[in-house]
Amino acid sequence: MSFKLAIVGRPNVGKSTLFNRLVGKRLALVDDQPGVTRDLREGEARLGDLTFTVIDTAGLEEADPESLPGRMRALTERAVDMADACLFLLDARAGVTPQDEVFADILRRRNGRVILGVNKAEGAQGEAGVLEAWRLGLGEPIGLSAEHGEGMGDLYAALEPLVAEHAARELDAPRPDRPIQLAVVGRPNAGKSTLVNAILGEDRLLTGPEAGITRDAISVNVSWGGTDFRIFDTAGMRKKARVVSKLEKLSVSDGLRAVRFAEVVVLLVDAQNPFETQDLRIADLAEREGRAVVVAVNKWDLVEDKNRRLRELREQFARLLPQLKGAPLVAVSAIQGKGLDKLRQAVLDAHEVWNARISTSQLNQWLREQTEAHPPPAPGGRRIKLRYMTQIKSRPPSFLAFCQRADEMPESYTRFLINGLRRDFGLEGTPIRLTYRKGE
Ligand code: GDP
Ligand code: GDP
Repeated sequence: MSFKLAIVGRPNVGKSTLFNRLVGKRLALVDDQPGVTRDLREGEARLGDLTFTVIDTAGLEEADPESLPGRMRALTERAVDMADACLFLLDARAGVTPQDEVFADILRRRNGRVILGVNKAEGAQGEAGVLEAWRLGLGEPIGLSAEHGEGMGDLYAALEPLVAEHAARELDAPRPDRPIQLAVVGRPNAGKSTLVNAILGEDRLLTGPEAGITRDAISVNVSWGGTDFRIFDTAGMRKKARVVSKLEKLSVSDGLRAVRFAEVVVLLVDAQNPFETQDLRIADLAEREGRAVVVAVNKWDLVEDKNRRLRELREQFARLLPQLKGAPLVAVSAIQGKGLDKLRQAVLDAHEVWNARISTSQLNQWLREQTEAHPPPAPGGRRIKLRYMTQIKSRPPSFLAFCQRADEMPESYTRFLINGLRRDFGLEGTPIRLTYRKGE
């Protein structure tokens, strides 16, 4: 989906004129859902080498200029929610009017990305209007003349990073035609080869005399329950073809490599002695590399009191690996082929969550609620303000928040937000990244 820019502002500031300039004759689609959305025009815009979709909220000329009727407010809000960014237009000749303030307020509360454009800025008269717009607190105003095509370079400069960021995000989108890349990692003897063989449904993985043939293979493709997977080889899977003395060295570097290749990492631990240093190290690595993680507890057939053991394991896991909070823990018996359906489902869920995308409007609605209920701290008596949040990529879900004093944001508040994102958007089994950018 191409980047969407909504042009908003009160009637007569020049929204349609600008829309027409950007779209030219390329007016492509008018949202044709009868009745509901016909007030919003969409067109394919071009500005320099940028192409994007522009949404026009004009067509409200009949609106009472002194107030902002509900319909107009609703239309603007809808456009803001549909768009990746808004171009808020003012009229340089009119200065900042009370009605502009109402729009500014909507935009501030929706917390969307706003480019502030001051139209009709051609000639000396326009300058004062552009300066005056600073007071809206929506960043640097750009002087424009939609009619004469002035200020388009500045508009380009403001839009370009937003469009580029959007394009980067699209590139990053999941590719459904590709198999899910899975690594099964864990200490030697956890049962990795047995598990992978159980998934493959045949004893094909580096056991027996043919081991030599396949030992250099990095991965194996398999359709598991109707989904294509590529399972990455790890030391445990290869050791049978190797001399034992090389085992330890291999287990570290191969584990690393498998984690880097993988989208989802299955950390296989032995139910009798799980979560030893090596397990923790691999789990931590997977988290730092930003992989989705599923913990599989193997040799479940040997466990006596299964319910109690599961509780114990969950507690241990939460205590020892807080960075993987919420990651699923599944009991399996590789040797008996039990628990594999649950494991597969957990892997699919983790993969989906790892690819998750949350809309900017949902995020900002959420951010507002969070910061109202639980405001950020106020070091030195001045409250840190979080203005806006957007998901910059998935795989794993990564968020960017605009914040005036990012350096002063304490780790604990970041953790609070990450835990909240995980809880409220169901992002379990994946690392979550949150970074700040200094905004106005
Ligand atoms: P909208 O209601 O916001 O869509 O505004 P329009 O695009 O219909 O423009 C309203 C009026 O402002 C029209 O008469 C336009 O010709 C005029 N206008 C638009 N852009 C400019 C501009 O850059 N400079 C000047 N002087 N007038 C403009
Ligand atoms: P790897 O080093 O992680 O690849 O582990 P292997 O797959 O070679 O398994 C190590 C040992 O554990 C072998 O003797 C397996 O038969 C045994 N094993 C693997 N999975 C299970 C299981 O689910 N239950 C039991 N009881 N033993 C298992």
